[in-house]
Amino acid sequence: MRKIFAALVVSTVLAGAAQAATVYPLDRATILSGSPFDFKVEFNSVVKPEDVKITVNGQDYKAVLGKDVQFVAEEKNKDKVLGSAVILRGLTIAAAGDYKVEVSAGSETKTVTWNVYGTGSAPKAKNIIFLLGDGLSVAHRTAARIMSKGMTEGKANGRLAMDDLDRMAFVGTSATNAVDTDSANTMSAYMTGHKTAVNAIGVYADRTPDSLDDPKVETIAEAVRRQTGKSIGIVVTAEVEDATPAAVVAHTRNRNDKADVVGMLLDVKPDVLLGGGSAYFLPQATAGSKRKDDKDYIKLFKDAGYSVATDKNELAANVNANGLLLGLFHPGNMDVTLDREFLKKGTVEKYPNQPGLVAMTKVALDRLSKDQDGFFLMVEGSSIDKMSHPLDWDRAVIETIEFDQAIAVAREFQKTHPDTLIVVTGDHTHGVSIIGTVDDDKPGTEMREKVGTYAEAGFPNYKDENGDGYPDKIDVSRRLFLAANNGPDHYETFRPKMDGPFVPAIQNEKKEYIANEQYKNVPGAVFVQGNIPKNGDSGVHSVDDVVLQSAGPGSEGFKGYMEESDIYKVLADTFALGSKQTN
Ligand SMILES: [Zn+2]
Repeated sequence: MRKIFAALVVSTVLAGAAQAATVYPLDRATILSGSPFDFKVEFNSVVKPEDVKITVNGQDYKAVLGKDVQFVAEEKNKDKVLGSAVILRGLTIAAAGDYKVEVSAGSETKTVTWNVYGTGSAPKAKNIIFLLGDGLSVAHRTAARIMSKGMTEGKANGRLAMDDLDRMAFVGTSATNAVDTDSANTMSAYMTGHKTAVNAIGVYADRTPDSLDDPKVETIAEAVRRQTGKSIGIVVTAEVEDATPAAVVAHTRNRNDKADVVGMLLDVKPDVLLGGGSAYFLPQATAGSKRKDDKDYIKLFKDAGYSVATDKNELAANVNANGLLLGLFHPGNMDVTLDREFLKKGTVEKYPNQPGLVAMTKVALDRLSKDQDGFFLMVEGSSIDKMSHPLDWDRAVIETIEFDQAIAVAREFQKTHPDTLIVVTGDHTHGVSIIGTVDDDKPGTEMREKVGTYAEAGFPNYKDENGDGYPDKIDVSRRLFLAANNGPDHYETFRPKMDGPFVPAIQNEKKEYIANEQYKNVPGAVFVQGNIPKNGDSGVHSVDDVVLQSAGPGSEGFKGYMEESDIYKVLADTFALGSKQTN
């Protein structure tokens, strides 16, 4: 008995020691052949350089990796010594296969295995259009279909553009440091093939406080530039330096490094870059600037050859022009479709000429398709997420309809350019479901009694008489009832928010978010007890899989369950990014 106990202690101690060091890329990383990445080992103690041993597939690492590592005697966070580290930046591995990396120094050891994958030598498609609905969940799709097309006797009266994509996969969105996730690490996994930590983009998240020194991995924009002559486009309704567009090009541990991301965008020079976020382009002295330096990025982009559009008329005037195009249509996130096109709320009075996602996507395709080498275009329906956080389901669903109309534009393009892969997916989900209807004509005095469930739900009575794909009004008498499974304390009003986006909770003097009293006296409103920590102002992302759909050459790679990082392998294979394109 004692002997067994002693053996257990020994094996436990050894197991603990074996886990001590951290190696980036992490275990089970998948790496595109020839794609540059940074290698880093973090020891938890101060070690001597001569004690550090690194082997790759049993050989001394220099024979395989080709370069010497840089030894860092002490990494610190303020005055706290974190331990020694070794770093090797801009490493590449050409030959496909498994690479077992064994690291030791003193009592610390760590073993990881990377898989380096190649691609075919011939591209399967000339163009890729990657359409990302931020936060796009199954409920958003179903609600968009019912609100846009209607339903009779249980069958949809029409189909969304996204309903007719050929292939499908379920995609896992979790981060390397948490089961839950955000738009930085999720889009970064799609755009680099490496999963990373919440808030990180194009890097593995290391332990040092500097957010710009973390071990980098190559982004798809960099890979496309390195291996092909293709053009690159980014079209979003958020700030162009927000997490999702940033992940196409950028490297930072912290998605809030938006001023730095603008510089990274200029480094890669997307041929078309359209969205909001001009505040980060303006030098600090300019009113409305969010920069803390004197750099004038509007001027720097112009100097680099960009023409600049600031509203939809200037954008339209640019359709047939050549060269680089920067469109910045709002200092922050652009207004959502419901406010921009229909209710004229939000900041639309101040910025009345913002283009929508459809117009921006058309301009991008017109310009990018002039490149004989082809293009990679990322289109984001950014505010599906931004309206799901404040539980404003009507605005989130209208955003989904707009996103779907951008997908329809891509599908039309694909008809005349069949050498185009289209991918439609979300980056993470929200905790929302459609549970029936709210029917003003249902008997009862309380709004809660007007919620129709099961047979009493009936069908909503939205109409689209003008055939624009949007319901003519959203405040109809029998409307869809979407409900969140999480959120802060708030009032449920059972009605669309016609005066502007919902603000469910506001901060009190204790810095806790409490229900916004503004909605307390809406007739029939009920108090909903929050179920997330009180420092949260809005609904949160959920861990549920997202649905990916695809059509066109290369789409056969999407099937079953996939990790977000595996999606990149299909994109890389479709463009044959493992080999240099000479045409
Ligand atoms: Zn979000």
